[in-house]
Amino acid sequence: MTAKVLVVDDVHVIRKVLEAKLVAEFFEVALAGSGQEALEKARTENPDIILLDVMMPDIDGFEVCRRLKADPLTSHIPVVMITGLDHPSDRIAGLKAGADDFLTKPTNDVALFARVRNLVRLKTMFDELRLREVTGLSLGLVSLSDQARDAAAIAGAPILVVEDDPASVDALKPILSNHSGLRVVGDEAAARQAVTEADWDLVVVSLALPGQQGLRLCAFLRASERLRQVPVLVLSKGGDDRSLLRALDLGVNDYVTKPIDKAELQARVNSQLRRKIYQDRLRATMQKTAEMALIDPLTGLYNRRYLENHLSARMDQDRGGERRSTVLMLLDLDHFKSINDTYGHAAGDAVLKQFAHRIRMNVRGVDLAARYGGEEFIVVMPETMADEARMIADRLVRVTAQEPFHIGDGREISVTVSAGVAQIAEGERPGEVIRRADEALYRSKAEGRNRVTMT
Ligand code: GH3
Ligand code: MG
Ligand code: MG
Repeated sequence: MTAKVLVVDDVHVIRKVLEAKLVAEFFEVALAGSGQEALEKARTENPDIILLDVMMPDIDGFEVCRRLKADPLTSHIPVVMITGLDHPSDRIAGLKAGADDFLTKPTNDVALFARVRNLVRLKTMFDELRLREVTGLSLGLVSLSDQARDAAAIAGAPILVVEDDPASVDALKPILSNHSGLRVVGDEAAARQAVTEADWDLVVVSLALPGQQGLRLCAFLRASERLRQVPVLVLSKGGDDRSLLRALDLGVNDYVTKPIDKAELQARVNSQLRRKIYQDRLRATMQKTAEMALIDPLTGLYNRRYLENHLSARMDQDRGGERRSTVLMLLDLDHFKSINDTYGHAAGDAVLKQFAHRIRMNVRGVDLAARYGGEEFIVVMPETMADEARMIADRLVRVTAQEPFHIGDGREISVTVSAGVAQIAEGERPGEVIRRADEALYRSKAEGRNRVTMT
C-alpha cells in the first residue's frame, strides 16, 4: 500500500524519526513544523492521512483538526492525533475536534502502522466510492453519499461483542450504547452461533477469553468467505503483545488495549463501521453498474449487447443434443420518426416505454426481449415452432394497433408496428439470423406495414 502521510510536529527530531519509520515501510512522507504549515500542506500536498501533534506553539492540534475538518478540501483526510500518555482528556477533546484516531507519545511501531494502514484503507475505499458515485450519478443511478445517511447507518450498525469479563463488558456497554444493534456474548461457541445466525457490521473480540478462544475465533472469522468482509476489532490485555501480534497477523482490522479508553474505542469503532458501510455501498454500486451495462434504461428491457451475448450462447446450446427450434422476432415501430416530429421526443419515448410493456405482456417468461436499437426490438423465443411464433407476432402487431398509446397531457395516438420472424437454422450464426429477420421486416414495411412476415 503506497500512501502519502503528512507528519505534523513542532519538534524537528520527532518529525525525522516518524519520517524514517514511515519511509522504511514505503510510505511517502510530507513534513510540517507548525499548525499553520500543516493547514497549508494539507491542501497542497494532498496527503492520504495526517499525523497531528497536539502541543504546538502557534495553533494547537485540536484547532488544526477542527479547521481541517471544516474545510471541504481537507475534511475527507483522516487525522490521527498524537497525544501525551498522561493526558487522557486530550482524547475526548480530539474526538470532539473530529480526529479519526489517536496515538500516544512515544509512538510504538505496531500501533503506528496499524493506525496508518487502517485509515489509509478507509480513505482509499472512500475515494473509490466517491468516484464510482460520481460516475453513477452522471448516469442517474445513485445518489451521492451524504453524512446524515452515513451517521444513521453507523448508529444502527449491528455490533457483536465477544467478551466474558464483566468489568470489561460494563465498560463497553455505555460506550457502545448509542449503537442500536449491540449484542454481547461470552464465549467462542456463542459467537460462532451468532455470526451464522445474523449479519454483523463489526465483531469486537476479547483476546483474554480462556483457552485462546479469542484467537481461534479471529482465525475462524478470517477463514470464512462470508465473514471475511466483516471488520474485527480485538481487545488486547496490556502487555500481551504476543496474542496481539498473532491476531494482527491473522488479519484482524484493529485493536484497543485494556483498560479501555472510551474515546479511543469510539474512534476505532466508528472508523471500522464507516469502512464497512462504504464497502457495502461500493459493492452495491458495482452491481448496479454491471446491471446497467446490460439493461436499456428507457424501457428496462435487455440491451443490444446483452442480446448478442445471449443469442450466441443460446445458439451454441441449440447445436448440441436434440434439435430444438428457436425463433427470432424483429419488431420495428412504423413511421416512428413522424411521432417524434409531430409530438416531440418525449412523446416518442413514452411510446417506446409502452410498447416495451406490451411486448413483455405478450411473450412468455422464457422468451427474451431486448431493445435492439432506437425503435427496433428483438424477441428470442426458444422451443417455439413457426406457427406458434406467427401467432405471437400477429398478437403483438394486433395489440399495438388496437390500443392507443398515451403521450402525456391526456393525449392519445395510434401506433403500428411491423415484424419479421426467422426460425434459427442449424449452424447459423447470430448475425445471419438477424439479417434474415431484417429482410422479412423489410417486406412487411414494403407491403404496407402493420403486419408480420415469416421467413
Ligand atoms: P419506418 O416505418 O420505415 O420504420 O419509419 P421510421 O420513421 O420508424 O424509421 P426511421 O428509422 O426513419 O426513424 C426512426 C426514428 O426513431 C428516428 C429516431 O430519431 C427515432 N429514435 C431513435 N431512438 C429514439 C429514442 O430513444 N427516443 C425517441 N423519442 N426517438 C428515437
Ligand atoms: Mg421504424
Ligand atoms: Mg428503424
